[in-house]
Amino acid sequence: MERCALCGSESETLLWAVHKEKGGMWVCVNCWKKLYEKNELVSGSGESGCGC
Ligand SMILES: [Zn+2]
Repeated sequence: MERCALCGSESETLLWAVHKEKGGMWVCVNCWKKLYEKNELVSGSGESGCGC
Protein backbone atom coordinates (compact mmCIF):
# COMPACT_ATOMS: atom_id res chain seq x y z
CA MET A 1 0.00 0.00 0.00
CA GLU A 2 1.43 3.30 -1.07
CA ARG A 3 0.85 6.63 0.58
CA CYS A 4 -0.08 9.89 -1.02
CA ALA A 5 2.91 12.24 -0.94
CA LEU A 6 0.67 15.21 -0.26
CA CYS A 7 -2.01 14.23 2.21
CA GLY A 8 -0.39 11.03 3.47
CA SER A 9 -3.50 8.92 3.09
CA GLU A 10 -3.14 5.34 1.97
CA SER A 11 -4.74 4.62 -1.36
CA GLU A 12 -4.80 1.69 -3.72
CA THR A 13 -4.90 4.11 -6.61
CA LEU A 14 -2.07 6.57 -6.77
CA LEU A 15 -1.22 8.74 -9.71
CA TRP A 16 2.23 9.84 -10.75
CA ALA A 17 2.24 13.61 -10.66
CA VAL A 18 5.16 15.76 -11.73
CA HIS A 19 4.95 18.97 -9.78
CA LYS A 20 6.49 22.04 -11.36
CA GLU A 21 8.46 22.84 -8.23
CA LYS A 22 8.59 19.67 -6.17
CA GLY A 23 9.18 17.18 -8.96
CA GLY A 24 7.62 13.77 -9.34
CA MET A 25 5.60 12.14 -6.59
CA TRP A 26 2.82 9.66 -6.05
CA VAL A 27 -0.44 11.28 -5.03
CA CYS A 28 -4.01 10.14 -4.57
CA VAL A 29 -6.66 10.98 -7.12
CA ASN A 30 -8.04 13.86 -5.07
CA CYS A 31 -4.66 15.52 -4.68
CA TRP A 32 -3.86 14.94 -8.32
CA LYS A 33 -7.04 16.72 -9.32
CA LYS A 34 -6.21 19.61 -6.99
CA LEU A 35 -2.77 19.97 -8.52
CA TYR A 36 -4.21 19.68 -11.99
CA GLU A 37 -6.87 22.33 -11.34
CA LYS A 38 -4.22 24.64 -9.89
CA ASN A 39 -2.14 24.02 -12.99
CA GLU A 40 0.80 22.95 -10.86
CA LEU A 41 1.55 19.82 -12.84
CA VAL A 42 4.09 19.64 -15.60
CA SER A 43 2.21 19.13 -18.82
CA GLY A 44 2.44 15.61 -20.12
CA SER A 45 2.35 13.97 -16.71
CA GLY A 46 -0.64 12.27 -15.27
CA GLU A 47 -0.63 8.80 -16.70
CA SER A 48 -1.85 6.38 -14.08
CA GLY A 49 0.82 4.29 -12.45
CA CYS A 50 0.63 0.53 -12.19
CA GLY A 51 2.63 0.21 -8.99
CA CYS A 52 4.61 -2.73 -10.27
ZN1 LIG B 1 -3.64 12.86 -1.33
